[in-house]
Amino acid sequence: MRDMSNPVWTAARRLTAMLAVMAAALSFLLPLRPAVAAAAAESNALARTFEREQVLLALRAWPHLSYPNLTVYYAPHLARDAAIVGAAAQQSYSRVLADFGLPPNTPAVLVVVSAAQLAQHVGVSSTLGDYYDGVIWLLAPSAFLPPGPGLRARYDQVGPVVHELTHLADDLAAGGLPPVWFDEGLAQYEDWRLTGYVWSQSGSGFEDGTYSWRQLTSPNFYQLSNLALAFRQALAATAAICRSGPGACNRVLADLRSGMNMDQALQATIGPTALHALERGAAWRPGEEPEPGAAAGPRP
Ligand SMILES: [Zn+2]
Repeated sequence: MRDMSNPVWTAARRLTAMLAVMAAALSFLLPLRPAVAAAAAESNALARTFEREQVLLALRAWPHLSYPNLTVYYAPHLARDAAIVGAAAQQSYSRVLADFGLPPNTPAVLVVVSAAQLAQHVGVSSTLGDYYDGVIWLLAPSAFLPPGPGLRARYDQVGPVVHELTHLADDLAAGGLPPVWFDEGLAQYEDWRLTGYVWSQSGSGFEDGTYSWRQLTSPNFYQLSNLALAFRQALAATAAICRSGPGACNRVLADLRSGMNMDQALQATIGPTALHALERGAAWRPGEEPEPGAAAGPRP
């Protein structure tokens, strides 16, 4: 695990985090001129590279598994878990890249850790994974799934690999992470399309009221009191966008990369009428209708 007490590392991390927050705040408020947008995308790419290199430096003594475009580092006692994670990632990564129009040789770094190590990195103990500036951190499958035969298959069904790979893909496609609700919506939508999995728990239904569009699209998404509901609404809104036409979600990401803010990108892709409907609340739920082309082909 990284050494968080190293003052140089801490200062550098603060600086890149501050730059990322400033870039996100600016793009949230203002459309960026193409040259500025290109500079912001370049800055985000640098932050990703910096973070990844720092992690690789910190993990240089850790064992790892190498795949054509994936490297899976793991805590020394988690070799079996790493193999399960590596197989799951290998199985889905090329499809995720293709769906987001990214080159098939795009590299990814994954790190498989214990619950204590993940909590140390992410700061909370209730998550199965985390994506941060080009690196995917994953809780070992054996830490949350019962032992026994079929662990690999069960991990494929409920593990967060596709979700976290999608965070990496939309970060790359948009030249920086898109707004939180769309980022989490895309990760869930892609996960549902590829594995059929949807995160669900009590309180995620729409029966007892929903968050307003303003609340849902706030940068404080993660501070909403009912995160299960917020995630489900983000999924519904994102699905409505992706289903509005061929390549619609990729066009939104490309427009964000070009310097549009999210409102402009949505206006350009789905139009003002559909955007107004979205603002009143998308009610789509996974499974309510068949997914066109879910088995093969690019993102609709
Ligand atoms: Zn996520």
